Amino acid sequence: MGTILELRDVKRYFGIRSGGWVGGGVEKPLKAVDGASFSIASGSSFGVAGESGSGKSTMGKLILRLDRPTGGAIEFEGRDIGKLDAQGDAWYRTRVQAVFQDASGSLDPRMRISAIVAEPLEIHARTGPNRLTKIEIREKVEDMLAQVALPERVMHDFPHELSGGQKQRVAIARAMILEPTMLVLDEPVSALDVSIRAQVLNLLSDFQDRYGLTYLMISHDLATLGHVSSQLAVMYLGRIVEIGDTEEIYERPLHPYTKALFRAMPLPDPDRVKSAPSLRGEIGSALDLPKGCRFCPRCDEAMPVCSAVDPELVDVGAGRQVACHLIGGPQLTKATHQRGSN
Ligand code: SF4
Ligand code: MG
Repeated sequence: MGTILELRDVKRYFGIRSGGWVGGGVEKPLKAVDGASFSIASGSSFGVAGESGSGKSTMGKLILRLDRPTGGAIEFEGRDIGKLDAQGDAWYRTRVQAVFQDASGSLDPRMRISAIVAEPLEIHARTGPNRLTKIEIREKVEDMLAQVALPERVMHDFPHELSGGQKQRVAIARAMILEPTMLVLDEPVSALDVSIRAQVLNLLSDFQDRYGLTYLMISHDLATLGHVSSQLAVMYLGRIVEIGDTEEIYERPLHPYTKALFRAMPLPDPDRVKSAPSLRGEIGSALDLPKGCRFCPRCDEAMPVCSAVDPELVDVGAGRQVACHLIGGPQLTKATHQRGSN
């Protein structure tokens, strides 16, 4: 499997003035995403976990080109998406589509379902080389609604006439109508009843099998990501703190934050991470980052070195990377030394 998407040291800083209104005060950067690097294999599912405020949705927006990075580069199918011209932008929009948490918010309430699903085709077919007739568009919409297991009659309905699960199926149909190669799924099932979640996740996994789609799924819910993703990145205050094979992270989480997230899961596996600390306190602000390790104020395993030195993401073997002074070669030596001398 080749690489479809690669992020290299991607940053998104926002300039926020503190201590005054426009024109006054001091400008401080809000580091929403602070140096994310990873690659996603074509046809695989990549999960991004973290609490709200971790920067995971901002990262999703950067990948979707709804926002621009202030540093680093994002390559999709070998092309730098920061350097696309209008034609390149149209190409990208057919290749990469999105499904968000709140289908009600992303579906125009004044449009009928058939028009909502057809809209991307109408926009792109107008400019693209493969112009479609009205009849062809209608056939495609009917076919796509069947693929997401919605009855044909919903074509004439408005979004408010559908259930939450049905609306999310419409959002998926709309995302799939241009036959993209990748979907960015930002909390795609979080707003749904637990009983409906599995159905929507199964639908997504069927699509992946059928079309060899690549998924980037963002969620605060490790259980969802565990079902769907083969690779997992855990984010905390703008940083990736642990990344690797999902199964291996589930078996043996290494970063104290990852361990705490597992402990905070509603139905923790009693055999898993027995001695891990639970997750206490709030995530804090990306505007006022703690010195040293960003997780330090909440970490039960913190050592003196932690509040002084920001741990780097280091390779710990088997494709896993962790940013923690407890783990890894030279940093461990430094941490042990400092702990010993205090
Ligand atoms: Fe905890 Fe220190 Fe590791 Fe940060 S570097 S997660 S504070 S042990
Ligand atoms: Mg979010």
